[in-house]
Amino acid sequence: MIGRVRVLLVEDDEPIAESLRRGLGRYGFEVDWVRTGAEALAADPGGVVLLDLGLPDTDGLDVCRELRARGDVPIIVISARADETDRVVGLELGADDYISKPFGVREVVARIRAVLRRVKTASAQPSASEYAGGRLVIDRRSRRVWLDGVEISLSPKEYDLLVFLAEEPGAALTREQIMEAVWDTNWFGPTKTLDVHIGALRRKLGDVVTVETVRGVGFRLVTS
Ligand code: CA
Repeated sequence: MIGRVRVLLVEDDEPIAESLRRGLGRYGFEVDWVRTGAEALAADPGGVVLLDLGLPDTDGLDVCRELRARGDVPIIVISARADETDRVVGLELGADDYISKPFGVREVVARIRAVLRRVKTASAQPSASEYAGGRLVIDRRSRRVWLDGVEISLSPKEYDLLVFLAEEPGAALTREQIMEAVWDTNWFGPTKTLDVHIGALRRKLGDVVTVETVRGVGFRLVTS
Protein backbone atom coordinates (compact mmCIF):
# COMPACT_ATOMS: atom_id res chain seq x y z
CA MET A 1 0.00 0.00 0.00
CA ILE A 2 1.38 3.40 -0.99
CA GLY A 3 1.42 5.94 1.82
CA ARG A 4 -0.37 5.65 5.10
CA VAL A 5 -4.08 5.05 5.14
CA ARG A 6 -5.94 7.86 6.85
CA VAL A 7 -8.68 6.88 9.26
CA LEU A 8 -11.37 9.31 10.37
CA LEU A 9 -12.26 8.24 13.91
CA VAL A 10 -15.59 9.61 15.15
CA GLU A 11 -15.77 8.81 18.87
CA ASP A 12 -16.67 10.97 21.87
CA ASP A 13 -15.32 8.56 24.47
CA GLU A 14 -11.82 9.86 25.11
CA PRO A 15 -10.13 6.74 26.56
CA ILE A 16 -11.45 4.58 23.71
CA ALA A 17 -10.45 7.14 21.09
CA GLU A 18 -6.98 7.55 22.61
CA SER A 19 -6.29 3.84 22.70
CA LEU A 20 -7.55 3.42 19.12
CA ARG A 21 -5.45 6.34 17.94
CA ARG A 22 -2.32 4.91 19.51
CA GLY A 23 -3.11 1.34 18.51
CA LEU A 24 -3.93 2.11 14.89
CA GLY A 25 -0.85 4.31 14.72
CA ARG A 26 1.28 1.32 15.64
CA TYR A 27 -0.21 -0.54 12.66
CA GLY A 28 0.72 2.28 10.30
CA PHE A 29 -2.60 4.10 10.10
CA GLU A 30 -2.86 7.86 10.38
CA VAL A 31 -5.82 8.76 12.58
CA ASP A 32 -7.86 11.97 12.51
CA TRP A 33 -10.00 12.05 15.62
CA VAL A 34 -13.24 14.01 15.96
CA ARG A 35 -15.79 13.83 18.78
CA THR A 36 -19.11 14.84 17.22
CA GLY A 37 -21.27 14.13 14.21
CA ALA A 38 -20.99 17.75 13.07
CA GLU A 39 -17.18 17.58 13.16
CA ALA A 40 -17.27 14.26 11.32
CA LEU A 41 -19.31 15.73 8.46
CA ALA A 42 -16.98 18.74 8.28
CA ALA A 43 -13.83 16.59 8.18
CA ASP A 44 -12.10 14.89 5.28
CA PRO A 45 -13.30 11.27 5.53
CA GLY A 46 -9.87 9.97 4.47
CA GLY A 47 -9.54 6.34 3.43
CA VAL A 48 -11.91 4.78 5.95
CA VAL A 49 -14.31 6.02 8.64
CA LEU A 50 -14.68 4.44 12.10
CA LEU A 51 -18.01 5.71 13.34
CA ASP A 52 -19.34 5.44 16.88
CA LEU A 53 -23.15 5.46 16.96
CA GLY A 54 -23.58 7.11 20.36
CA LEU A 55 -22.45 10.67 19.66
CA PRO A 56 -23.22 13.72 21.82
CA ASP A 57 -24.84 15.86 19.13
CA THR A 58 -26.50 13.46 16.71
CA ASP A 59 -27.28 9.83 16.06
CA GLY A 60 -24.31 8.12 14.41
CA LEU A 61 -26.72 6.44 12.01
CA ASP A 62 -27.61 9.86 10.56
CA VAL A 63 -23.90 10.57 10.08
CA CYS A 64 -23.56 7.19 8.37
CA ARG A 65 -26.43 7.96 5.98
CA GLU A 66 -25.02 11.40 5.15
CA LEU A 67 -21.47 10.11 4.56
CA ARG A 68 -22.82 7.39 2.28
CA ALA A 69 -24.90 9.93 0.33
CA ARG A 70 -21.73 11.92 -0.28
CA GLY A 71 -19.49 9.13 -1.53
CA ASP A 72 -18.25 5.62 -1.17
CA VAL A 73 -15.67 5.88 1.62
CA PRO A 74 -15.73 2.61 3.60
CA ILE A 75 -17.57 3.05 6.91
CA ILE A 76 -17.15 0.76 9.91
CA VAL A 77 -19.76 1.38 12.57
CA ILE A 78 -18.78 0.90 16.21
CA SER A 79 -21.39 0.67 18.89
CA ALA A 80 -21.82 -0.01 22.56
CA ARG A 81 -25.48 -0.79 22.03
CA ALA A 82 -25.94 -4.52 22.09
CA ASP A 83 -28.92 -4.10 19.82
CA GLU A 84 -29.14 -6.14 16.67
CA THR A 85 -31.33 -3.41 15.11
CA ASP A 86 -28.38 -1.01 15.06
CA ARG A 87 -26.32 -3.49 13.17
CA VAL A 88 -29.01 -4.13 10.57
CA VAL A 89 -29.91 -0.45 10.17
CA GLY A 90 -26.24 0.55 9.98
CA LEU A 91 -25.56 -1.94 7.21
CA GLU A 92 -28.71 -0.92 5.37
CA LEU A 93 -27.64 2.72 5.53
CA GLY A 94 -24.46 1.78 3.74
CA ALA A 95 -21.98 0.91 6.49
CA ASP A 96 -19.48 -1.70 5.31
CA ASP A 97 -18.98 -3.44 8.61
CA TYR A 98 -19.91 -3.31 12.28
CA ILE A 99 -17.93 -3.75 15.48
CA SER A 100 -19.42 -4.03 18.97
CA LYS A 101 -17.74 -2.61 22.04
CA PRO A 102 -15.65 -3.82 23.70
CA PHE A 103 -13.19 -4.66 20.94
CA GLY A 104 -9.45 -5.05 20.57
CA VAL A 105 -7.26 -2.96 18.28
CA ARG A 106 -6.25 -6.05 16.34
CA GLU A 107 -9.89 -6.78 15.52
CA VAL A 108 -10.37 -3.21 14.29
CA VAL A 109 -7.24 -3.44 12.15
CA ALA A 110 -8.47 -6.70 10.61
CA ARG A 111 -11.85 -5.13 9.76
CA ILE A 112 -10.21 -2.04 8.25
CA ARG A 113 -7.91 -4.15 6.09
CA ALA A 114 -10.84 -6.29 4.95
CA VAL A 115 -12.98 -3.34 3.83
CA LEU A 116 -10.00 -1.71 2.10
CA ARG A 117 -9.33 -4.98 0.29
CA ARG A 118 -12.93 -5.09 -0.94
CA VAL A 119 -12.79 -1.49 -2.14
CA LYS A 120 -9.53 -2.13 -3.96
CA THR A 121 -10.93 -5.23 -5.66
CA ALA A 122 -14.05 -3.35 -6.71
CA SER A 123 -12.17 -0.39 -8.18
CA ALA A 124 -9.73 -2.62 -10.08
CA GLN A 125 -12.59 -4.09 -12.08
CA PRO A 126 -14.47 -2.41 -14.89
CA SER A 127 -17.41 -0.60 -13.39
CA ALA A 128 -20.39 -2.27 -15.06
CA SER A 129 -20.56 -5.91 -16.11
CA GLU A 130 -23.30 -7.58 -18.12
CA TYR A 131 -24.48 -11.15 -17.78
CA ALA A 132 -27.08 -13.32 -19.48
CA GLY A 133 -26.93 -11.31 -22.67
CA GLY A 134 -27.29 -8.00 -20.82
CA ARG A 135 -30.36 -9.03 -18.81
CA LEU A 136 -28.34 -8.77 -15.59
CA VAL A 137 -26.12 -5.69 -15.13
CA ILE A 138 -23.92 -5.15 -12.07
CA ASP A 139 -22.32 -1.74 -11.56
CA ARG A 140 -19.54 -2.25 -9.04
CA ARG A 141 -18.77 1.44 -8.60
CA SER A 142 -22.26 2.36 -7.48
CA ARG A 143 -23.07 -1.12 -6.11
CA ARG A 144 -26.29 -1.17 -8.15
CA VAL A 145 -27.86 -4.09 -9.98
CA TRP A 146 -30.38 -4.14 -12.82
CA LEU A 147 -32.48 -7.03 -14.02
CA ASP A 148 -34.08 -6.64 -17.43
CA GLY A 149 -33.50 -2.91 -17.14
CA VAL A 150 -35.15 -2.57 -13.73
CA GLU A 151 -33.00 -1.84 -10.70
CA ILE A 152 -33.31 -4.41 -7.93
CA SER A 153 -32.68 -3.72 -4.28
CA LEU A 154 -30.12 -5.96 -2.59
CA SER A 155 -28.83 -5.85 0.96
CA PRO A 156 -25.04 -5.22 1.20
CA LYS A 157 -24.35 -8.91 1.84
CA GLU A 158 -26.67 -10.07 -0.96
CA TYR A 159 -24.82 -7.69 -3.25
CA ASP A 160 -21.38 -8.95 -2.14
CA LEU A 161 -22.56 -12.52 -2.57
CA LEU A 162 -23.85 -11.88 -6.09
CA VAL A 163 -20.65 -10.09 -7.10
CA PHE A 164 -18.51 -12.92 -5.74
CA LEU A 165 -20.56 -15.58 -7.59
CA ALA A 166 -20.54 -13.45 -10.74
CA GLU A 167 -16.76 -13.16 -10.78
CA GLU A 168 -16.64 -16.54 -12.45
CA PRO A 169 -20.00 -17.62 -13.84
CA GLY A 170 -20.33 -21.39 -14.02
CA ALA A 171 -17.57 -22.08 -11.50
CA ALA A 172 -18.49 -24.10 -8.44
CA LEU A 173 -17.60 -22.14 -5.32
CA THR A 174 -17.38 -23.87 -1.97
CA ARG A 175 -19.32 -22.69 1.03
CA GLU A 176 -16.03 -21.95 2.78
CA GLN A 177 -14.76 -19.82 -0.11
CA ILE A 178 -17.98 -17.85 -0.14
CA MET A 179 -18.09 -17.37 3.63
CA GLU A 180 -14.49 -16.18 3.64
CA ALA A 181 -14.95 -13.78 0.73
CA VAL A 182 -18.31 -12.34 1.66
CA TRP A 183 -18.33 -12.56 5.46
CA ASP A 184 -14.56 -12.28 5.98
CA THR A 185 -14.51 -15.23 8.21
CA ASN A 186 -12.93 -18.64 8.21
CA TRP A 187 -16.09 -20.53 8.70
CA PHE A 188 -16.13 -24.16 9.67
CA GLY A 189 -19.45 -24.15 11.46
CA PRO A 190 -23.01 -24.08 10.19
CA THR A 191 -23.56 -21.89 7.15
CA LYS A 192 -27.25 -21.16 7.56
CA THR A 193 -26.63 -17.44 7.03
CA LEU A 194 -25.33 -18.28 3.59
CA ASP A 195 -28.44 -20.32 2.73
CA VAL A 196 -30.70 -17.48 3.86
CA HIS A 197 -28.87 -15.03 1.60
CA ILE A 198 -28.82 -17.47 -1.33
CA GLY A 199 -32.59 -17.88 -0.93
CA ALA A 200 -33.12 -14.12 -0.96
CA LEU A 201 -30.89 -13.74 -3.99
CA ARG A 202 -32.76 -16.46 -5.89
CA ARG A 203 -36.09 -14.76 -5.22
CA LYS A 204 -34.76 -11.42 -6.42
CA LEU A 205 -33.00 -12.77 -9.51
CA GLY A 206 -36.03 -14.66 -10.77
CA ASP A 207 -35.21 -16.82 -13.78
CA VAL A 208 -32.76 -14.45 -15.45
CA VAL A 209 -29.77 -16.04 -13.75
CA THR A 210 -29.80 -19.07 -11.50
CA VAL A 211 -27.85 -19.81 -8.34
CA GLU A 212 -27.39 -23.55 -8.61
CA THR A 213 -26.67 -25.76 -5.65
CA VAL A 214 -23.59 -27.91 -6.21
CA ARG A 215 -24.36 -30.77 -3.89
CA GLY A 216 -21.75 -31.34 -1.18
CA VAL A 217 -19.72 -28.37 -2.42
CA GLY A 218 -21.50 -25.03 -2.57
CA PHE A 219 -23.00 -22.93 -5.33
CA ARG A 220 -22.48 -21.69 -8.85
CA LEU A 221 -24.02 -18.88 -10.84
CA VAL A 222 -25.54 -19.98 -14.13
CA THR A 223 -26.07 -17.06 -16.46
CA SER A 224 -27.67 -18.68 -19.48
CA1 CA B 1 -20.10 7.31 22.27
